[in-house]
Amino acid sequence: MKGPLPRCCTRLLLPLLPLVAVLAQLPAWAGSALSAWRLSSDGALELRTAPDVKLQAFFEEGRGGVGPRVWVDLPGAPQRTRTVSGNGVIRQVRVGRPDGATTRLVVEFQPGTRLDPSTLKVIGTAADRWRLEFSGAAAGVTPFGEGELEAPSTPTWRAQPLAGSVLPSAPLASVSSLPDVPRGRYKVVIDPGHGGPDPGAVGIGGLRETDVVLDVSLQVAQLLQAKGVQVLLTRTSEVDVDLPPRVALANNSGADLFLSIHANALSLSRPDVNGVETFYFQSAKSLRLAQMVQQQILAISPGSPDRGARPGRFFVIRRTVMPSALAEMGFVTGQLDAPRLADPGFRRRLAFAIATGLLNYLAATP
Ligand code: ZN
Repeated sequence: MKGPLPRCCTRLLLPLLPLVAVLAQLPAWAGSALSAWRLSSDGALELRTAPDVKLQAFFEEGRGGVGPRVWVDLPGAPQRTRTVSGNGVIRQVRVGRPDGATTRLVVEFQPGTRLDPSTLKVIGTAADRWRLEFSGAAAGVTPFGEGELEAPSTPTWRAQPLAGSVLPSAPLASVSSLPDVPRGRYKVVIDPGHGGPDPGAVGIGGLRETDVVLDVSLQVAQLLQAKGVQVLLTRTSEVDVDLPPRVALANNSGADLFLSIHANALSLSRPDVNGVETFYFQSAKSLRLAQMVQQQILAISPGSPDRGARPGRFFVIRRTVMPSALAEMGFVTGQLDAPRLADPGFRRRLAFAIATGLLNYLAATP
């Protein structure tokens, strides 16, 4: 990214910068992975962050007298929160600390602004640079922001690919399409099946159950958190966690419900077997939870057979004390299911479906 002035001139200007402003900015960002942001004149949000940071972006449609909002969550809380007035279609930008461990940058548009969430994307332009375009809606804004975006960037994606699950280009989650529940009231445990040395089922093209379920589970957790639900994950990376500790975590947490997320498998010689099934153990509440999750997964899996919400004796649902279910999202060995489970876009839809099922259950539970 180039500065607005040739380097010789920038150097001349530097002594003129008010020292007090520089000092005020440093503590504001301390502890946060965000170090600068700007709304640029071409209507994009530009971010500078710590390298290889895990960043999550969300979208919420406007309602009432409030315009649509796009927000980005980054690790680490800023020292202080603040609100910066915008111009044009941007009403304001807020920097907040929703939970003491997160920086949340919210771009709020003027009421009535139309944004098409399907076109919103966060694009990584370097390991420490991000660009979020609003499909032209914010073009013509007078640039404003905080922090230094012109500092040298760390190498680009190609030179230094990101580790982990962060994609250079990630579609935004439209949280407003999810059911509402009272914020701060519920706690949910999400259990991504298998992990580490135990890959779970391995299907067509080497598709591994553990990879599918971890990706979907992390996204379910993000979506629930965005709706004000506290989420505990039994694992957040490729590690092996035995079944009893998963159950102990859930039972000690006082959670309202527990969902274990899996993908099914038969044999590689049976690609004709596909389908979705969700297991529960005994209780009527668990049955209803299983039905609600099953229904939502089926709704986005056309052609994949409905194998039902059915009783099962899996350890994690038998031993957990709260309503619990175990979802099998499809067969990694199925010719219909496997390519879907391998597709990041479909996994995103799965996460939405599962989050919807869980929120529906919570909303219907007094
Ligand atoms: Zn499994």
